[in-house]
Amino acid sequence: MKWTLPFALEHLRVVSIPMAVRFRGVETREVALFNGDGLTGWAEWSPFLEYEPAEAATWLAACIRSTVERPTLLRDRVPVNASLPAVAPERVQTVLARYGLWRTVKIKVAERGQSLEDDVARVRSVREQHPEARIRIDANGGWDLDQAERALRALSAFDLEYAEQPVAAVDELAQLRRRFDAVPIAADESIRKAADPLRVAQLGAADVIVVKAQPLGGVRRALEIIAETGLPAVVSSALETSVGLAEGVQLAAALDDLPYDCGLATGALLGADVTYERMLPTWDGSAAVLPAILPTVDEHLVDELAAPRERQEHWRERLRQAWQHLPADVAD
Ligand SMILES: [Mg+2]
Repeated sequence: MKWTLPFALEHLRVVSIPMAVRFRGVETREVALFNGDGLTGWAEWSPFLEYEPAEAATWLAACIRSTVERPTLLRDRVPVNASLPAVAPERVQTVLARYGLWRTVKIKVAERGQSLEDDVARVRSVREQHPEARIRIDANGGWDLDQAERALRALSAFDLEYAEQPVAAVDELAQLRRRFDAVPIAADESIRKAADPLRVAQLGAADVIVVKAQPLGGVRRALEIIAETGLPAVVSSALETSVGLAEGVQLAAALDDLPYDCGLATGALLGADVTYERMLPTWDGSAAVLPAILPTVDEHLVDELAAPRERQEHWRERLRQAWQHLPADVAD
């Protein structure tokens, strides 16, 4: 099924969701949703506000494809990780307690204004209190090459699963891997477009790729891209509502190999959601998991959370502009 612009404009609903926890400097998350005649369910289009039309169009193509393509699921639940911001060691227990039971945690490091000693203290505190936990760190590209090497050498003492985006540039990721290979490297920010994962693989820049369904053009394309790289993938979210999170869960549930827990437990960062049942993890006896289901949207919530009129207008204009960049398989 292909969409037309009038169809998309007619069915566009924009919600403005308050964040429970500030994230990426975002206090409210604006998300476009589509539902209407001929669609089997709701679909989410949620490019971040600063994205240009061409990039937003890739996310829109993913949204449209999500209404017609369903992958074959190989599992009915997907394990997910807890996340720890760059807090002081004294606060580690309180913050992690909010996640309930978990087996994998991603710890933020390389925060601006903090030192390697702060990172070591935070990671040590988690390791001491959770000797069995799978611990990964995320630097969001915050170190230069020398800092990253020094940090990984120091933090490797705590048995890390991997280090996410220790440096910003892809070629530096590759250099870092050659300098110090005791901690596997994951590429996250280096993967924002469909061509990026292959480049990361070709340069030998990472052991693991962090992938999100929307920026890669949808679940099926993401599956193809991951297969092409031959690298293990960690499916992550783009701060979506439960509608978008369910797409991520579908992607993860369709992967042959899922050696790492996924970054899809971000629903708790939102102060509200649009579905009857929210995509929040539960403990299944061995891991925190999300179910591979498509949650049902509550129209009352969509009404309640409706963005102000001028924001609706802004998104209608975004939609018109992104439309010019859509690939031929999804648009007429
Ligand atoms: Mg990351």
